[in-house]
Amino acid sequence: MCNDYAELKPSERLLLGPGPSNADPRVLRAMAAPLVGHLDPEFLQIMNDNMSLLRYVFQTKNELTMAMSGTGSAGMETVFVNLVEPGDKVVVCVNGVFGQRMVDVAQRAGAEVTVVNAPWGQIIEAAEVKKAVESVKPKLVAIVHAETSTGILQPLEEISAICKEADCLLVVDCVTSLGGVEVKIDEWGIDAAYSGTQKCLSCPPGLAPVTFNEKARAVINKRKNKVQSWYLDLTMIQNYWGQERFYHHTAPISMGYALRECLRVIYEEGLEARFARHKLNAEALKAGLKAMGFKLYAQEGRQLPSLTTAWIPEGVEDASTRKFLLNKYNIEIGGGLGEGKGKVWRFGLMGHNSTEKNVLTLLTALEAAFV
Ligand code: PLP
Repeated sequence: MCNDYAELKPSERLLLGPGPSNADPRVLRAMAAPLVGHLDPEFLQIMNDNMSLLRYVFQTKNELTMAMSGTGSAGMETVFVNLVEPGDKVVVCVNGVFGQRMVDVAQRAGAEVTVVNAPWGQIIEAAEVKKAVESVKPKLVAIVHAETSTGILQPLEEISAICKEADCLLVVDCVTSLGGVEVKIDEWGIDAAYSGTQKCLSCPPGLAPVTFNEKARAVINKRKNKVQSWYLDLTMIQNYWGQERFYHHTAPISMGYALRECLRVIYEEGLEARFARHKLNAEALKAGLKAMGFKLYAQEGRQLPSLTTAWIPEGVEDASTRKFLLNKYNIEIGGGLGEGKGKVWRFGLMGHNSTEKNVLTLLTALEAAFV
């Protein structure tokens, strides 16, 4: 019986798609450390470290800054189920799959959603958001900072000013931006944001960092209705992360270790150096792709440093080429998602994976795949 199940030996893939990216080896080592209890003073100190290191990466002083148990989508749900009550008006900006997902999540939380659409591969124009905000007068506006389905980096400052003027909350998805490109929660006036560990933080999937400012926190604490999700209810979870240390659910201990280590790596490198590295390697990759005849998919000047998208060249077969890269070189790249399915490839250079060596390895492998 036992012999039917061989020892687990996953291949050593180079994960150069839309995520997960490879975890930093330091993070994997931290995960192998012995378990302590979730109320052990040593673990409580790790939680405190994670809160302060997350404040550093989010560039915020927000007290309510912590990591939800679950992947990036748990972060998305956390924001909507806690801020939205049935019947609330919400504006969601959609120019890709993750904006669409926010619409679904907001509706499930009982919101009356108005969508601001933009063509995929383009940013959302602030003027369109202004029109919607003026006519709907929403409780909140939600937008994706780094749209992983298209490779777009969304500018946020103008949209934040519109929200401030209309006195509505601004919610931002930072899943593919946090730790790879500037995310300035306080300076840009973002009221609530969420991310995931498996992209530019170079940690396995499993936690969703979130941050809420005092305005957003007051909205949560003044709710008329109970939060629809027991598991993601911040009115309770804030008392585990805060002074009270009330048990809510058992924290994923090893992921807590992992988060602390990946954030320590970022702190040691420094945000500016990290962002410069992502930018440099993305520019090198784009130059290489263009030299090979690729045409980039995302709007010029608005391309993400952590994820580059390109049209699949004519005559090149999508699935079999990706399979070739995986089987021959152990390299994973991403196929298109939504409108880009079968037409676009997504190349991630995230966190630990954003290196000159990986740029050259990827370009060489792509070259070989076309010969
Ligand atoms: N938002 C964005 C922009 C993403 O890229 C992703 C995942 O790729 C998510 C949300 C959802 O995160 P997860 O798949 O970790 O639940």
